Amino acid sequence: MNEQGLLIVFSGPSGVGKDTLLKRLMEKYPEIRLSISATTRSPRSGEEHGKDYFFMTREEFQELLNRDKMLEHAEYCGNYYGTPSEPIEKWLSHGHDVILEIEVQGGAQVLKKRPECVSIFILPPSIAALENRLRSRGTEDEATIQKRLNAAKEEIEKVYQYGYAVVNDNLDEAADEIAAILRAEKRRSQRNKEQIERMLRNA
Ligand code: ADP
Ligand code: 5GP
Repeated sequence: MNEQGLLIVFSGPSGVGKDTLLKRLMEKYPEIRLSISATTRSPRSGEEHGKDYFFMTREEFQELLNRDKMLEHAEYCGNYYGTPSEPIEKWLSHGHDVILEIEVQGGAQVLKKRPECVSIFILPPSIAALENRLRSRGTEDEATIQKRLNAAKEEIEKVYQYGYAVVNDNLDEAADEIAAILRAEKRRSQRNKEQIERMLRNA
């Protein structure tokens, strides 16, 4: 087993199915930890503070930034989002894999700071399917849907920053592909160096 967990950057346009895929993945791998972001956007109905996000004012968000408590942060469609660093470091050092579900500006920051991370971009089967999903979710008003669709094309252009691209057409197949990527990443020789060296020392 790897001693340090995998840091996984998981991105894709709004409505592509990231939350749905992560729920599916967590059912299969309950030991994975999902980072809870801070955000200045308002909660959607059913969302809980401390479970879905840490909902906060801009002043509170700025305070965390001033105290250097965020691994990354970005402004997306008029709201701020950021990843609190402390839980991430703790989980990784305890051997848990940690998923950051973040947009592409934040993804670029993590890729730069932590080049050993695993980065996965989720693509829709088509832009029309993405629009359908965003509308059928029914959580945003028309203006927000338009903002998010406009952002989507620019985000998709950033797919090549990411190590992997997975199309979420069939949900089960996409979830299986993500699980396969994570399994293969764990077997990278460089991630298993300590264990290999220990085996050699004891030989
Ligand atoms: P995101 O987290 O990327 O914004 P969600 O997980 O909220 O997206 O999914 C947006 C909508 O698309 C939801 O209504 C969800 O049920 C639906 N959805 C997710 N994956 C699929 C899929 N493979 N096929 C059809 N609909 C999907
Ligand atoms: P939503 O408002 O739909 O929950 O999220 C909007 C976008 O913000 C999504 O692309 C989501 O991945 C991204 N996001 C959520 N949390 C963070 C975060 O901590 N940092 C960054 N950079 N993006 C985030």
